[in-house]
Amino acid sequence: MFPLGFFVVMTSTSRQHALIIGGSIGGMTAAKALAPHFERITIVERDPLSDRAEPRRGVPQGVQPHGLLPRGRTELERMFPGLMKAVKAEGAFEFDGSAELARFTSRGWAPRHDNLGVSALACTRPLLETTMRRLLREQSPNVRIVDGTRFNGFTYTKLGDEVIVTGAKTDAKDPALQELSADLVIDATGRGTKSYKWMDEVGLPAPREVRVDAKCNYATRHYRAPAEAKHWWWRSLLIDSAPPDHARAVSILTVEGGRWIVTAIGTNGDYAPTDEAGWLAYIRSARAPIVADLLERAEPLTDVVQNRTTINIWRRMHEYEAKLSGLLLMGDGVCCFNPNYGQGLTSSALAARSLSERIAQHQGPLDYHFMAAHYDSQARWLEEGWSYSTTLDLRWPKAEGEKPAFYGFMRWCAGLLESVAIHDPILLRKLLPLLDFGANRLSIITPSFLGRFYFGLFRNIVAPRKLLAAAELDVFAKAPQRPTLAADVAVE
Ligand SMILES: Cc1cc2nc3c(=O)[nH]c(=O)nc-3n(C[C@H](O)[C@H](O)[C@H](O)COP(=O)(O)OP(=O)(O)OC[C@H]3O[C@@H](n4cnc5c(N)ncnc54)[C@H](O)[C@@H]3O)c2cc1C
Repeated sequence: MFPLGFFVVMTSTSRQHALIIGGSIGGMTAAKALAPHFERITIVERDPLSDRAEPRRGVPQGVQPHGLLPRGRTELERMFPGLMKAVKAEGAFEFDGSAELARFTSRGWAPRHDNLGVSALACTRPLLETTMRRLLREQSPNVRIVDGTRFNGFTYTKLGDEVIVTGAKTDAKDPALQELSADLVIDATGRGTKSYKWMDEVGLPAPREVRVDAKCNYATRHYRAPAEAKHWWWRSLLIDSAPPDHARAVSILTVEGGRWIVTAIGTNGDYAPTDEAGWLAYIRSARAPIVADLLERAEPLTDVVQNRTTINIWRRMHEYEAKLSGLLLMGDGVCCFNPNYGQGLTSSALAARSLSERIAQHQGPLDYHFMAAHYDSQARWLEEGWSYSTTLDLRWPKAEGEKPAFYGFMRWCAGLLESVAIHDPILLRKLLPLLDFGANRLSIITPSFLGRFYFGLFRNIVAPRKLLAAAELDVFAKAPQRPTLAADVAVE
């Protein structure tokens, strides 16, 4: 005889209530994915949330610069229709990610390509997040956000060797919110998720975890940009590091309100200090001193704030064999990246899209088979982004992590490709999907790709093209009249 609970739990295909823990990008994109499929969705967020676009405690990376990759932008716009227009109405703007980017690479100033067609969004992370939250409230009335409320643990039941999460406990003052039952619980509490510890407590194994740590640190200060900066030709300026010897990169990103986000990115354990004099000296010691010179014209608005949560960590839930039903991990809690490559927001958006497609086709219970199928399809595109960021991070001598087979040869090939592609917008455009989870490494190697590459290589040998040295680029030159690249994101 089976206990009654067996039938209640096992036969439940109900889609009445989904509970999402964490109201940041992972939580909100998950809510958008689930909204058409559940009667009610509750997001429980620890921080009190305001409509003002300002950093908050639970998202300390909010003060740091956030770039959005093209695919992430397309997906966020698809999920939150009108998002780009709404952030632009608050002062965010688009710029040409090649022509209006001054980038001092390890080879010299990168050539600017007018026709690359990469439109970048200049926007603070809090502005993006508060705008998404406003649109979520407006567009999905079945989503309720309970803020200022901490998740305190799952409620669950055991059925043989299967653990079924049935809801969560919170510290809400309202007794009705202290224990919430749900047909599906999403953990979107970010890279610090406690779910893996909880698995151990209930006797489940933890998933295998892979880490690559390039010992990278962000140290950021916000400035009011000098008034004349709006006439200069660039909107973002980046002095690259150059492994293995020069671990200091610095960047300026212009954002809404005429502000600059200025960041010292120290890798290989070479971290920028956070006191003003030390930080400025670090900025000046980058491979070109131009950012330090520019800061003499700008007005500091904040202290220096650092962030060291930059380790690439992949909890390989797609290999997980234990029977855990009712709970799905999303966002940074499954896979987080060194932010240097700007992949986190995009991977959250893509995971939500894949969840929405899967749940739309699925009639059965939200059991461990469903979760496994989701993690499995997610792993296929995560693999490419993971390989991109970790392969680059492993160039640093002090990086910790396992190098893939033939790493030295792969890096040598990649170096040759970079030396050719930097001059060729068509090759660059073909390479871009590798960064934003859009293509498989092998799939981009077509006869036309190889033809362009070999031609470029040959050209580099017979007529080498020298890039401008640090002092040769005029960063104070006025902007030519450029046509707008892309007005709004096209959603097919
Ligand atoms: C320095 C830095 C720079 C970055 N730059 C970029 C970039 O340029 N481009 C890019 O795409 N990505 C970037 N990222 C990554 C990006 O910030 C993350 O990928 C993204 O925020 C992931 O969102 P998430 O929702 O998974 O987690 P998080 O944003 O970490 O959010 C977790 C949420 O859960 C809440 N929470 C936690 N515990 C509880 C609890 N017990 N109860 C209730 N709520 C809880 C928190 O308050 C928070 O709101 C950067 C990250 C860092 C650290």
